[in-house]
Amino acid sequence: MSYKKSQEAFKEAFRYIPGGVDSPVRAFGSVGGTPPFIAYGKGEKIYDIDGNEYIDFVQSWGPLIFGHCNSDIEEAVIDTVKKGLSFGAPTTIETELAKEIVEMFPSIDKVRFVNSGTEAVMSAIRLARGYTNRDDIVKFKGCYHGHSDSLLVQAGSGAATFGNPSSPGVPSDLTKHTLLADYNDLESVKRCFADSINGIACVIVEPIAGNMGLVPAEREFLEGLRELCDATGALLIFDEVMSGFRASLLGAQGIVDVRPDLVTLGKVIGGGMPVGAFGGRGDIMSMLSPEGPVYQAGTLSGNPVAMAAGLASIRKLKANPSIYVEMSRLAKRLTEGFEAAAKSEDIPLVTEVRGSMFGFFFSDKIVKNFDDAQSSDTKAFAIFHRAMLDRGIYLACSAFETGFICEPMSDETIDSAVRAAYEAMREVQDKK
Ligand SMILES: *Cc1c(COP(=O)(O)O)cnc(C)c1O
Repeated sequence: MSYKKSQEAFKEAFRYIPGGVDSPVRAFGSVGGTPPFIAYGKGEKIYDIDGNEYIDFVQSWGPLIFGHCNSDIEEAVIDTVKKGLSFGAPTTIETELAKEIVEMFPSIDKVRFVNSGTEAVMSAIRLARGYTNRDDIVKFKGCYHGHSDSLLVQAGSGAATFGNPSSPGVPSDLTKHTLLADYNDLESVKRCFADSINGIACVIVEPIAGNMGLVPAEREFLEGLRELCDATGALLIFDEVMSGFRASLLGAQGIVDVRPDLVTLGKVIGGGMPVGAFGGRGDIMSMLSPEGPVYQAGTLSGNPVAMAAGLASIRKLKANPSIYVEMSRLAKRLTEGFEAAAKSEDIPLVTEVRGSMFGFFFSDKIVKNFDDAQSSDTKAFAIFHRAMLDRGIYLACSAFETGFICEPMSDETIDSAVRAAYEAMREVQDKK
């Protein structure tokens, strides 16, 4: 496989864009080599500028649940584009999408649209602080909630610690209100509550973590968070930007019976356009400006073109919820195939599936938190990733990401990926 044109394009991009990319993970930093520059996509596949063809298990990092260029979504977007791109004034399509979301999610009475998952989470946290009149928040190591200041926090050592910024440019004054806990470890959350001087406004969690690899929360853990929040008056925020409409139609909330106070959504809700949303209990959402005092705004929020893509996607999903059963079957077929391929070379591999999401770690123990994830063999992952890419299988370029099945995929798709995996595992064994 030649990547010559992509290599040239990457060099050229590098001159004008920091790192050559507009979001860091795209640069293939953790697996090495040049990222293919994509020319176009169709269904389950993408094609790069060198003419290479790939089965796409990234699907724009989740949003494209119907694959590339789905005709219904395409049509909805084109119809809307012809009426104007943006007005900065109310349009009925915003209410239509809001109504779909509110009718679907028992935890959401009202919802507001923004332009990204980052914005959704940032706004939900501000709202939680405004509602509770408290400053501190609890987040979990390995959970990603976008790149806003108070959420870019790294783990301190040991027990509950007050967060240190994980990036230059974030003043520690802004992260001192972020307390860190361990995923799937209720005791570490209790320590945060005990440590907090200012009071905990909210606990934010990915109820199915997808940004440290795929690591689902245990049911008892989420139930414990609910009880702890109820006992202390803190709000529980489920960040379902990735898991929403992916793990099931209702994300984690369609799988476990724990109701959060606020929910953040993104990715699939925009059908490939830039959209985020946050919603929740009516009394909390009413605190939002202009109904209430907590300020939040956006020139392009609720953009009609983005709403049209989201609405078409959500309506298609709602009309045919059985596709989750099928996508989950395909995801299991894939991970079982990966496991068998690894076993044939005596390579330890553990896998996980939730609906259309799948994950795998080069590890011999089940991964329950970020420390477990980090102890997996990332070097083996890097070799596997490149070997798969060379065979036309496009996987997320980090050991700490999630893979996605899309609706156009079939048994044949999976079986060709599994055949590639047998060869790739042999390369892992040879190069280790
Ligand atoms: C992707 C993601 C975000 C950030 O969304 P952006 O649209 O990239 O800003 C936040 N939370 C979770 C759980 C995500 O997966």
